[in-house]
Amino acid sequence: MNTLTNIIDGKLISQQIQGEIAIEVMSLIAQGHKKPHLAAILVGNDGASETYVGAKVKACDRVGFDSTLVRLPATTTEIDLLIKINELNADKSIDGFIVQLPLPKHINEHIIMQAIAPEKDVDGFHPQNVGRMALNLPTYLPATPYGIIQLLKRYSIETTGKHCVVLGRSHIVGSPISILMARSSSTIGNCTVTLCHSRTKNLKEHTLKADILIVALGKPEFVTADMVKDGVIVIDVGITRVPSDKTKTGFKLLGDVNYAQVAPKAAFITPVPGGVGPMTIASLLRNTLKSSKKEVYKLT
Ligand code: NAP
Repeated sequence: MNTLTNIIDGKLISQQIQGEIAIEVMSLIAQGHKKPHLAAILVGNDGASETYVGAKVKACDRVGFDSTLVRLPATTTEIDLLIKINELNADKSIDGFIVQLPLPKHINEHIIMQAIAPEKDVDGFHPQNVGRMALNLPTYLPATPYGIIQLLKRYSIETTGKHCVVLGRSHIVGSPISILMARSSSTIGNCTVTLCHSRTKNLKEHTLKADILIVALGKPEFVTADMVKDGVIVIDVGITRVPSDKTKTGFKLLGDVNYAQVAPKAAFITPVPGGVGPMTIASLLRNTLKSSKKEVYKLT
């Protein structure tokens, strides 16, 4: 039992980062720079997507960005969406934009992601930006992995030489965070990384060796106390809505880690909610600010 568990407060860190961005925006405007401008395309009216996009627009207001929400009906064709993307690519007033996922089934996500101009791809999903990340070149890091890196950095967690075990290999979380944790860095990185997925044999043998365990499965409370060693650092990315008669909304959010069991053994742990989740928006804003300052692609 580790009595010194530290809870990693993602809500607090996200607020701090947004405060820092707001100050930077004020200073840019004072120097005659235009406000950073983020646009979002929302296709259809999926409830969760509406909430996520709404939160992104509100965050833009808070930090002094301009924002544009482009709403398209669920019946929008792939061609019509590509035309809208080309418009945003060409619009000089917009620094970056996102296409909220998931898209309706008749639209191919890969085609859409590749249509976004890499210099405006503030979600960091374009193959060019993923390649730049893998090569350790300046790029827009995908929001959730970027948020995890920020949490580790701001809690001064030493990663060099540590064994990091990642559960899940999705394109948006598991794969990119495994690359970032392994890469050569003066801050967060330099880990020996094990990437596990549904075909991994004897998963527990791997998780028990983790100094840092990053879990992105979408399987509520999958990681239990017997799967981790004392003093482990746990980053729980999972968010699953499960029915609950104890909340007004009728549901509660669960992470992929059984928090009650694992927290007492952990040196650091992210709660759900309030851990990784709030960091996603902060990362998106940071990427948009980078784009507005031409920090990644030195284009005019
Ligand atoms: P995903 O695309 O569904 O990928 C899940 C991964 O887990 C896959 O690689 C899968 O392996 C692996 N997996 C499934 N069952 C497994 C098992 N029993 N043992 C080992 N590996 C297993 O999920 P995702 O998009 O990465 O999301 C994961 C979770 O994070 C979800 O709860 C999601 O809501 C949450 N999330 C949160 C944020 C945030 O901001 N906090 C952002 C993104 C996602 P295979 O590849 O072999 O199928």
